[in-house]
Amino acid sequence: MSPDPWCIVFSGSRLLLRTLDGGVRLPNHEEVLSDLGADRLAGTRVPALITVASGPSAATFGLGDDVDAPAGYAFENLRVAYHLLTRDEFRAAGTARQKVEWYRTNGFCSRCGSVNHKHPEHEAMSCTACGQLHFARVAPAVIVLVQRDREVLLGRSRHFMEGVYSTLAGFVEPGESLEECIHREIEEEVGVRVGNLRYFSSQPHPFPNSLMVGFIADWISGEIRIDPVEIEDARWFTTDDLPVLPHPMSIARSLIDDFVRRTIP
Ligand SMILES: [Zn+2]
Repeated sequence: MSPDPWCIVFSGSRLLLRTLDGGVRLPNHEEVLSDLGADRLAGTRVPALITVASGPSAATFGLGDDVDAPAGYAFENLRVAYHLLTRDEFRAAGTARQKVEWYRTNGFCSRCGSVNHKHPEHEAMSCTACGQLHFARVAPAVIVLVQRDREVLLGRSRHFMEGVYSTLAGFVEPGESLEECIHREIEEEVGVRVGNLRYFSSQPHPFPNSLMVGFIADWISGEIRIDPVEIEDARWFTTDDLPVLPHPMSIARSLIDDFVRRTIP
């Protein structure tokens, strides 16, 4: 890994990647300065903190939509980068993406219309007239592994890659607890009732700005009856008959891997 801090550059929603020697990685600050040019970066630095526990901090820049990548680089959609970067690189890039968007869309106060500036202490934009703070928004979502003895309930939505089934997920609505959201989402999507909810873990999910909160739940009653608007198919699977599973870095996959570990004798 480079000793220099990562440099995270977005052109619109596309991330700048260094493509070298058949590999792909986040570029460092020195490379970007020399290859993209200081002129192009001028005035585009996003005053946000991007740190990852086991990686370096990163400088972040948000450029216009139509910048061409210099030789030895490529601009890629974040969903493509998900399959190319390491866990830490993706985590930093995902955080940066959300903060670039927050900075870009909060130049003016949504309360009084005056100009916002980055607050000197808080990770927030602050209104120069009324003082209102504007934090980057995070949308909580639940993601739930439903199990029935030695079976797991997995579903697929139309936008999944071919053959992939995953744990069920949904956004929390205003006024709703995580537990209430789980009961509502599972009943809406597949028509079954669940109980004995156990917290599993959580994961930031920058598509575009959610926090996935993972749970395990036990099936209580009901047969699968899918909501065709939300999902394409849902089934019970056993560990010896699993479908194509989600990306190894996803919390969905962690939930399923954990189920497999607990279930195989
Ligand atoms: Zn204001």
